[in-house]
Amino acid sequence: MDTVILSDSEADLLKAAELIKNGSIVGIPTETVYGLGADAANENAVRGIFAAKGRPADNPLIVHLADFSQAVEYTSEIPELAWKLAEKFCPGPLTMVLPKNNRIPMVTSGGLDTVGIRVPSHTVMHRIIELSGCPIAAPSANTSGYPSPTTAQHVFRDMNGRIAAVVDGGQSQFGVESTVISFDGKDAVRILRPGAVTREMLLEVCGSVVIDPAILHEVEAGAKVSSPGMKYKHYSPKADIIMVEGSIGAFTELIGRSGGDSVYSLIFDGDEEVFPYRHLTYGSDSAEQAHLLFQKLRELDELGAEKVYVRAPSPEGMGLAVYNRLIRAAGFEVIRV
Ligand code: AMP
Ligand code: MG
Repeated sequence: MDTVILSDSEADLLKAAELIKNGSIVGIPTETVYGLGADAANENAVRGIFAAKGRPADNPLIVHLADFSQAVEYTSEIPELAWKLAEKFCPGPLTMVLPKNNRIPMVTSGGLDTVGIRVPSHTVMHRIIELSGCPIAAPSANTSGYPSPTTAQHVFRDMNGRIAAVVDGGQSQFGVESTVISFDGKDAVRILRPGAVTREMLLEVCGSVVIDPAILHEVEAGAKVSSPGMKYKHYSPKADIIMVEGSIGAFTELIGRSGGDSVYSLIFDGDEEVFPYRHLTYGSDSAEQAHLLFQKLRELDELGAEKVYVRAPSPEGMGLAVYNRLIRAAGFEVIRV
């Protein structure tokens, strides 16, 4: 199969929607990262997504809808708090885990009786959902374990020959996947994966917002997790990633001691003025760092980096999402200097 690159013209979006209606898989831009989209209600199409990514069958797919009101068609119960959150954050980078009904097959939900529902704000993704008339299951469009794609070219590199098409909608705005939450009670939610909708933002609507411990700490083998994605090594380039917490001064000393031929550093914008070793930079605040992180991890592989020391942002606000992706990319290898 040759993977076709489509533009974001209405004619090409119609082609993408037709492919999805007919059971094919299409790479689609969203405001978070690029997704691999297929009809969430078509079991064979969904099996194709797992096969194209090499994704473990128990890692559930998020289902994307054009409007949150359509969630009643695919779930058995929607708490009052979910409607309130939808009013504020849909469309946008928030996924709500809700009890599913039988219109969502078990393959889509990774065998769980819940389903993650999201309403994307990206006009291309939104239009493709509308034109196809399907609920669209769409995990990140990377090979399982590798950094998520934030451009159509990233998707093409990972998926050429495995999917029907990829729609080029430019670079993803946020650069990290959606915030995933579950409901813990009438007024309480739990963050299962941090994203651009932060704890502080959720607290404007919810009485309590708990951060699941698995976001910052390694899950023990065999332990029960609230979100299957927490069990797997993720977001990781070929290079060995080491996360470093501390000032740029201490970071520079560390690299002075441990630098070698294929060692690179990934530092903040501005650090380069005092940092004399080989490096890339990834922005100056956590929104920029989220936007650039996956792209830079892919670039480091292209440069032939074997070992990369990365300056970690503090895990607050949107920094929590960046910190969470980095600590997983590093396989929980953290140095504090
Ligand atoms: P991705 O498809 O790559 O964006 O990953 C989606 C992640 O969302 C999964 O790895 C899960 O951790 C989480 N997720 C999706 N659906 C559910 C669900 N029903 N319950 C808990 N977590 C979910
Ligand atoms: Mg993913």
